[in-house]
Amino acid sequence: MKLITIAIDGHSSCGKSTMAKDLAKEIGYIYIDTGAMYRAVTLFALQNGLISEEGIDEEGLRERMSDIMITFQLNEETGRPDTYLNGVCVERDIRTMEVSKYVSPIATLGFVREAMVDLQRLMGEAKGVIMDGRDIGTVVFPDAELKVFVTASVDVRAQRRFDELTAKGEKCDFEEIKANVIERDRIDSTREISPLRQAEDAIVLDNSNLTIPEQKNWLLEQYYRVAGED
Ligand code: C5P
Repeated sequence: MKLITIAIDGHSSCGKSTMAKDLAKEIGYIYIDTGAMYRAVTLFALQNGLISEEGIDEEGLRERMSDIMITFQLNEETGRPDTYLNGVCVERDIRTMEVSKYVSPIATLGFVREAMVDLQRLMGEAKGVIMDGRDIGTVVFPDAELKVFVTASVDVRAQRRFDELTAKGEKCDFEEIKANVIERDRIDSTREISPLRQAEDAIVLDNSNLTIPEQKNWLLEQYYRVAGED
């Protein structure tokens, strides 16, 4: 099998990371959750008073970008990578509704995207990587050998997010989650820099009616098809 780059983009909360993590584990690739990186920047901004009622302190965040170090470390228990912000595991803190509320506006900022894209290219330069996000197949790795664009109905996506947060013990409201999913998609698709869009050579997967094992098999088949080519 040849070593390839796999780009998985798509709408919010449609299970991209679950399928990407499962495939990475199965084929021994490195998995990089780029949404987690934008979430970590957002958490940093919240922790450092750079987000208030008045909005985001863009200049303040620009000045502090060099103080943000994002890394991933394999969690031996789950077999999946956890996100670290300046050496502290923030895997749980970056998934809260508060972070979800501000992450898309933060991700529209050019200097934030530039820093994250540089880091993502560095992390994926040796190939053998599965990266999920919004602009991986279009901007970060336009030459990725396998590109998948994932989508699902808004209700299915909001329900998945609701179940995920509830399972973690976070109190949440379905309608609030649904509104957040719709709003993030709107901001992601209409922003000026690297908007969310399907790469021309991406394969579309609507997983509204697929189970997790079905998605996993589908993705594995795509991988074997592409990586097995001469
Ligand atoms: O994937 P996840 O939903 O955790 O991503 C959180 C947010 O980060 C997205 O709603 C989007 O605004 C932003 N994002 C992005 N580009 C990426 C990955 C995520 O703009 N490559």
